Amino acid sequence: MAAAVLGSIDGNATTSLAAITVEKEPDAPLMFLSSSLATASRAGSFVVIVRSRDEFLHWLHHPRPGAEWLQVEGLLNDEDVWAAAARVPSGPPLDVIVSDPATEFAMLYRLVDVRGVRDLRVTIPVLPGLIKALRLAASLRLPVRLLPGQPTEAALAELGEAAEFYLYNPAVEAPIEFFHSLFAAMGGADTGSLWSILEQEPAVFARTDADGQAVIPRDFVAAHLQNLIRQDAECADCKWQSWCAGYFKHPDPGYVCEGVKKVFSILEAAAEEMNRDLAAQEEVGA
Ligand code: SF4
Repeated sequence: MAAAVLGSIDGNATTSLAAITVEKEPDAPLMFLSSSLATASRAGSFVVIVRSRDEFLHWLHHPRPGAEWLQVEGLLNDEDVWAAAARVPSGPPLDVIVSDPATEFAMLYRLVDVRGVRDLRVTIPVLPGLIKALRLAASLRLPVRLLPGQPTEAALAELGEAAEFYLYNPAVEAPIEFFHSLFAAMGGADTGSLWSILEQEPAVFARTDADGQAVIPRDFVAAHLQNLIRQDAECADCKWQSWCAGYFKHPDPGYVCEGVKKVFSILEAAAEEMNRDLAAQEEVGA
């Protein structure tokens, strides 16, 4: 089993960018702001969304206190940006968003030198091509966050393969979320639900509109799950409810969860195996 699987996970009082942990007040959501809003922001902690070379280089060279990390969107294809980023030896960590893993996976090589000078994570949507991007990211020792959304049948097949890869491939050293935290939760760690693990819990991570206002109410997750249960949706008697909290029923509440439940089961079987091994080791040592 990969060593990355065995890491401990903190509770809700922290937010994290893979291996990076940001201490924050539980009542203060981390604001995700466009570059222009972040420039004018008085928020205590925020994530800056950069979508152009100029925005990216500005925040690399002129980081502000409170900027916890940069969410870099649509810039993987700009080779010069990454060459420049590798030459700036300090500044905020980066969350590099992959838009289309099938066409962009080879561009992950551009991040190797950047990884040498700052903390960096790759966020990969669960779309066809995911497994190629994940294997390359793991070989480059890049922490990964998989964003599942509501995966198609083709993407689900790759997600299952990705879970097996995470659990059993010795090349995996850096965390692969959401597998890493969910696996830890199945071993007893307090990780919060999938919404928190994926940094999509609006009470903690506030996405904002053009005016800097949160676009999703802070109590959305509880209300969403209550609503599904009241309507006797599939979530009502789902064994994964405490960890999933209806994640896969958003935005389409009619999404059928058969495929994602198989992925949960892959992780659960491995967690049970590990728990049995640990119990056996304790018995031998007692
Ligand atoms: S796996 Fe599907 S049915 Fe189960 S809690 Fe999550 S969204 Fe609901």
